[in-house]
Amino acid sequence: RDPIHVVGGGLAGSEAAWQIARAGWPVVLHEMRPERRTDAHQTDGLAELVCSNSFRSDDAEQNAVGLLHEEMRRANSLIMTAADRHKLPAGGALAVDRDGFSGAVQAAIEAEPLVTIERGEVPGLPPAEWRSVIIATGPLTSPALSEAILSLTDEGALAFFDAIAPIVTRESIDFDIVWLQSRYDKPGPGGGTADYVNCPLNEEQYNAFLDAILEGDKTEFRDWEKSTPYFEGCLPIEVMAARGRETLRFGPMKPVGLTDPRTGESPHAVVQLRQDNALGTLYNIVGFQTKLKYGEQGRVFRMIPGLENAQFARFGGLHRNTFINSPRLLDPQLRLKAEPRLRFAGQITGVEGYVESAAIGLLAGRLAAAEARGELIDPPPAETAMGALHSHITGGADARTFQPMNVNFGLFPELGERFRGRDKQRRKRKAYSDRALAALAGWLGGETIAAE
Ligand code: FAD
Repeated sequence: RDPIHVVGGGLAGSEAAWQIARAGWPVVLHEMRPERRTDAHQTDGLAELVCSNSFRSDDAEQNAVGLLHEEMRRANSLIMTAADRHKLPAGGALAVDRDGFSGAVQAAIEAEPLVTIERGEVPGLPPAEWRSVIIATGPLTSPALSEAILSLTDEGALAFFDAIAPIVTRESIDFDIVWLQSRYDKPGPGGGTADYVNCPLNEEQYNAFLDAILEGDKTEFRDWEKSTPYFEGCLPIEVMAARGRETLRFGPMKPVGLTDPRTGESPHAVVQLRQDNALGTLYNIVGFQTKLKYGEQGRVFRMIPGLENAQFARFGGLHRNTFINSPRLLDPQLRLKAEPRLRFAGQITGVEGYVESAAIGLLAGRLAAAEARGELIDPPPAETAMGALHSHITGGADARTFQPMNVNFGLFPELGERFRGRDKQRRKRKAYSDRALAALAGWLGGETIAAE
């Protein structure tokens, strides 16, 4: 039996290797550390957490990432088993002892007879005799492998600097204030002339907003990130704001070609939002990549008329990253359409975060193991957290504006019922969660991979 090769022993690669071995198939896990290091990893351990030690909320009923934890536990995730074992007190969040966590992942993999760990960089395209490969080399994929991937994808570039604009849920936008219109009523790619949500600001509101951006608390770049230049096309809004009080009004907040139907006039400034997923449940704030801290983003962006009650599916950010344009390049089995022996998993597929990366590793491992046995399986249904993430990266997201995504309820298909009255958000989130766990049970179909 030809082993499956997993490249990268991070969150996704470790989970993928574990799932393959548990499914009874041999696997070789290639990790370049300690022979070659990244700019962020500090240790030689598998599944090292490079920054925070938090897996975020563990509330499976009310939070999409908590639901993802629970689904992964039910699918015998090694990452979740190790996290639960090395959990630290952190209120409703799942925080872990990072060394204990990484040590537990490594020990479990080393004890697994079907896994061979090979330390060393895969410095280019995996050799042709590796018939099934999972590339899980993360946001800091080594340059040699990045270039090789690029050569297969006819993309202009893998994204090396990740400029993330904030995303809000459509239902939290106040449509009594905003209006739908494309600039100069120009038809968009779908032919529509009302593709943008427009939020109007008068002069006083614009000035107050500008001051809030300039004074807001920002995240500092890490030393090694400072050497990566900005693309002029995706400057953070605070950098533009600092260039002059009118810069934003001539940049992403320009009002030309837009008429507020309530006044019949063009406002002083406009913030535009554009649909972000095929379901039409999420909208990104166009051109608003930022290094403002998350709490500050909530406060400052809710000053925008129409976004006073905005629910953020993802905050904006800017950091170095490597990810492929998955909606264009991958098939539903997570295989590269141009070379199907290569699967992708983890942050490099355009999901964001430890848990999301591990979840895609879990899926890639199961899909690859099934294929090796000669029985392709369907990915999980989109009603599950794993399925919602999977369908976002393999087609739900718009390939032209694809940016890394955290799991959130905005990615899930709408529920068939409307929720009104007290506690409606709570009840709605619980309904998403109940539906997801029922759908997951169907997918796992009783045929779960043997637990540790
Ligand atoms: P990784 O965990 O990075 O694993 C990839 C592995 O592949 C690494 O071990 C690397 O050494 C190896 N590798 C790379 N190239 C090769 C090669 N050619 N051959 C062999 N091995 C190779 N997410 C959060 O949820 N919270 C945070 O606080 C957070 N902070 C972050 C801070 C920074 C600076 C960065 C860059 C990312 C951060 N992230 C954070 C995102 C985080 O990296 C991912 O969520 C997660 O680690 C990705 O998992 P992964 O398995 O895809 O990649």
